[in-house]
Amino acid sequence: MPATMNSGAVKRQSKNPANGVGPSEKEQLGQWGRAWKVDWFSLVSVILLLLCAPLIVFYFVMSCDQYQCALSGPLLDLYSGKSSFGDIWSRAPSFNWTAAKIYATWVCFQVFLYMCVPDVCHKVLPGYVGGVQDGAYTPAGLINKYEINGLQAWIITHVLWFANANYFYWFSPTIIFDNWIPLLWCANILGYAVATFVMIKAYLFPSNAKDCKFTDNFFYDYMMGIEFNPRIGKWFDLKLFFNGRPGIVAWTLINLSFAAKQQELYGQVTNSMILVNVLQAIYVLDFFWNETWYLKTIDICHDHFGWYLGWGDCVWLPYLYTLQGLYLVYNPVQLSTANVVGVLLLGLVGYYIFRMTNHQKDLFRRTDGNCKIWGRIPAYIECSYVSIDGKKHYSKLMVSGFWGVARHFNYTGDLIGSLSYCLACGFGHLLPYFYIIYMTILLVHRCIRDEHRCLNKYGKDWKRYTDAVAYRLVPGVF
Ligand code: NDP
Repeated sequence: MPATMNSGAVKRQSKNPANGVGPSEKEQLGQWGRAWKVDWFSLVSVILLLLCAPLIVFYFVMSCDQYQCALSGPLLDLYSGKSSFGDIWSRAPSFNWTAAKIYATWVCFQVFLYMCVPDVCHKVLPGYVGGVQDGAYTPAGLINKYEINGLQAWIITHVLWFANANYFYWFSPTIIFDNWIPLLWCANILGYAVATFVMIKAYLFPSNAKDCKFTDNFFYDYMMGIEFNPRIGKWFDLKLFFNGRPGIVAWTLINLSFAAKQQELYGQVTNSMILVNVLQAIYVLDFFWNETWYLKTIDICHDHFGWYLGWGDCVWLPYLYTLQGLYLVYNPVQLSTANVVGVLLLGLVGYYIFRMTNHQKDLFRRTDGNCKIWGRIPAYIECSYVSIDGKKHYSKLMVSGFWGVARHFNYTGDLIGSLSYCLACGFGHLLPYFYIIYMTILLVHRCIRDEHRCLNKYGKDWKRYTDAVAYRLVPGVF
């Protein structure tokens, strides 16, 4: 029997989260998904993000295209009067039909792989879990089924990419880099179209009306999504598709295209570019190898699907997560052997912490605590929550292994890995460091958001967990 810190569900108290104890059972009833009410701060943040995020992406990409990735370049030009907004805008490549065709082919191909090629990998790769899998309980008490075939899609896409680069020569391997800004417009069109479609769909034909959340605030609903798991037909799950493909499958292809461009421009691929390609490929492959586990992460089992995920997966992820590779095309960096070893070790340590922490929670939850963590039976806190249909469910929060070190040590590992990608680019410019700054903001915010949700879900039991594991990311610091 696993050791329990406290067995049995604790009787709920009717108190407010603000006092640190947790909501009452009535307040808890199925209210643990995203917010139902919007405060002013959230509303202002949402509007600012809707306005600024597309401009931020354009600014970064344009800084590389016109100013060798110097983020201060456009500002200095504007300040000194050398260029106007209009000049900078008109110098940037615009939308064109060649890019539109490339992008449409790419998205259609990924839809085809997602919908029409059932997973074979789980039959031939030992240890890999794919095929039809269950998602987590939704607040309405449903369990959705998913076809997990992302690894297969990734492998087929990359085999075709290498076959083309080495044998068929249908297109140049630099095709992504060469159309980078025109493709940005196409990605934006798709991102906005998807976000608008799911908004309309939520009103007219939701996949599951009980899992919809309306706040009566248009901007918040548009950004954070109304439907929880919008689907077309029984199987085309928009959230899983857009989260994983086309964005994450594209991530490694984009990096390969950047490496090919370095080869074309300088006659060699620098060791920093190889490092970025390898470290990010490990992260991407890990994502697809663990796609079934991913069904239980916040993106899939807590976030609703709106502009934040739809546009974010189409534009933000492929354009800003790949900034290191883009930077290295314009500023090739050859690292000393000591630096290569240092960056590689940092990246691998970060990945190890990230993977092991996630693995420990997955193992713990799958076996209901009947497993060994660091050679010992894990300790946990028993907790309960209520779904919207009034049913009471029981769960456990582990306080052993990395989950006893900090409440989100998986985020800490992710941040260490993210830092290593940036360090591979040297210290010439700020632009490649955007990723670690952004990831820190994202994961700290996510941590706070998740803990707020867990407090709403588990009430007093969550408080017992935070008493047992005092820090969020770094023991003794935060
Ligand atoms: P987690 O995998 O940390 O999941 C948090 C959930 O786990 C909580 O809501 C709770 O869910 C459960 N939980 C919390 N504490 C415990 C515990 N002690 N024992 C058991 N279960 C617990 O969060 P994410 O889904 O955000 O992240 C998954 C991974 O994805 C992370 O490694 C993160 O770094 C990475 N990530 C990467 C991003 C990127 O852009 N590169 C973006 C977002 C995430 P429940 O309700 O089930 O109890």
